[in-house]
Amino acid sequence: MTNNKYKILLVEDDANICTVVATMLESSDYQVILAQTCALAKTLFASYQPDVVILDLGLPDMDGMQFLKFVRQDSLTPIIILSARSNERDKVTALDMGANDYVTKPFSSAELLARVRVALRNYRHSAEEGKFPGGRFKCRDMLIDYDARQVFIGGQEIKLTQTEYNIVALLSEHCGKMMTYSAIVKGVWGYSTEGSTKKLQVNMANIRKKFGARPGETWYITNELGVGYRMNGEEEE
Ligand code: CA
Repeated sequence: MTNNKYKILLVEDDANICTVVATMLESSDYQVILAQTCALAKTLFASYQPDVVILDLGLPDMDGMQFLKFVRQDSLTPIIILSARSNERDKVTALDMGANDYVTKPFSSAELLARVRVALRNYRHSAEEGKFPGGRFKCRDMLIDYDARQVFIGGQEIKLTQTEYNIVALLSEHCGKMMTYSAIVKGVWGYSTEGSTKKLQVNMANIRKKFGARPGETWYITNELGVGYRMNGEEEE
C-alpha cells in the first residue's frame, strides 16, 4: 500500500483535540498517524518517517520535550509544538531545542494548517535546494540579493547597515520559522551578552522603519513578544 500523501504524526493525548485536528488534516489530504504517548510516538516516528510532527507537551508518560530531543538527535523533520503552555520561557526552550514552530491552545484550525504548510514548504526547500542557491530570496515584493548583500522592496533598494542586513538575511534563511532572540543574536553576533536582546530589538526597530511598514499592516517580519522573530513566507491565497 503506497500513497503520496504527506504523513503527519500527531502526538496528543486529548481525544477531542485529536479528533478535531485529525479530521481537519485528513480533509486537507494529509495522512495522519496518531500517538497518545511519547513511547508510542517514538516507535511510530521510526516506522513511518513522517513529514511533519505536531507535538503536545503535556503527555501522560513523559514531557513532550523528551520526544523533541529524541527526534532532533538525528532528524530535521519539522516539529510544530501544540501546547496549552503559553508562557514565553516554554516557547523559547522548545524553539531553542529545535522545534520549528509553536501554536498555543486554543488555536484555530486555519492557523495550524497554515503552519503545517509553511513547515512542509521550508523543509522541502532546504532538503532539495539547500540555502537558496542563485543567491536570491524573494518574498512578495521583497528581494534579497545575497551576493551583493542588498535588499529591495518593490524594486527600491533599502539601505541597511551591515548588522541590519545580517539580521534580515538570517531570518530569510529560516523563513517561516519562529527564531528566538538568542538564536538570532548567536547567528548575527556569534556571541551573546547581557544587552544582546535589546541590541537586536533596536536594530529591528530600525529595519522596520526603513522597510516603511505602517502599523497594523501585515509585515515581512513578525515579532512575538518575549520569544523572537519570524520572517513570513509567501501568502498562499
Ligand atoms: Ca496533553
